[in-house]
Amino acid sequence: MIQLQNIHKYYAMAQNRLHVLKGIDLHIREGELVSIMGSSGSGKSTLLNILGILDDFDTGSYTLAGTPIKNLSQAKAAYYRNKFLGFVFQSFNLLSFKNAMENVALPLYYQKVGRKERNKLALEYLDRVGLKDWAEHSPNEMSGGQRQRVAIARALISQPKLILADEPTGALDTTTTHEVMEIFKEVHQQGMTVVIVTHENDIAEQTQRVIRLKDGLILDDGLGQTSEDFLTPVAYTQA
Ligand code: ATP
Ligand code: MG
Repeated sequence: MIQLQNIHKYYAMAQNRLHVLKGIDLHIREGELVSIMGSSGSGKSTLLNILGILDDFDTGSYTLAGTPIKNLSQAKAAYYRNKFLGFVFQSFNLLSFKNAMENVALPLYYQKVGRKERNKLALEYLDRVGLKDWAEHSPNEMSGGQRQRVAIARALISQPKLILADEPTGALDTTTTHEVMEIFKEVHQQGMTVVIVTHENDIAEQTQRVIRLKDGLILDDGLGQTSEDFLTPVAYTQA
């Protein structure tokens, strides 16, 4: 699903440049549930943004679901993001002037799906995250855990191959963290590939494989901990 080879990433600074990723090699197979840990500033979000084609890298190669990702035009990048990816962020990124159903339906609006069809699907996906009765509510009226479930439903509605989540439970308390992790696990059981960046050991322990970053390098790719069974995903395909 994800193949990274010798990825380097620099950020331009005033006088010099900051070398943030220093040669990342990583293989994540289809159907894996993986977490990425590492101290603040180690490059986790940078790596996730590259995986999500939200940011470019300087050297190295990235293949996503068999497609080489490098120097894409904005239109191509958007096309692949829509085709392959769903995002979940710590801050939910929901629109407060739209209700839960409309928020979930948003990706379909951009894909020019008609209102009736997209609302119908949005209700289905809200139901999947246990929020069918909340369709008409504004995110402002919902708890953090409920908001994050709306955000996950929105990420799922375009049926991505890969879900990328950057500290999805960072703003949540223990109970709501649990609700949100249950949904990620369910999604994974249905065959989706899920990558979660987290600071929390409790979260990482619930994934199959923990990748540890330190100063822009992979300290541990988590494969030492996994048995062959673990690595045989539901629907295994190369790349
Ligand atoms: P955290 O756990 O705090 O979210 P992180 O592991 O996600 O940290 P990154 O956000 O990837 O870390 O940042 C890695 C390094 O790159 C940090 O030193 C950060 O200051 C720097 N950095 C991140 N984004 C930018 C940017 N857009 N421009 C310049 N420097 C950046
Ligand atoms: Mg971060």
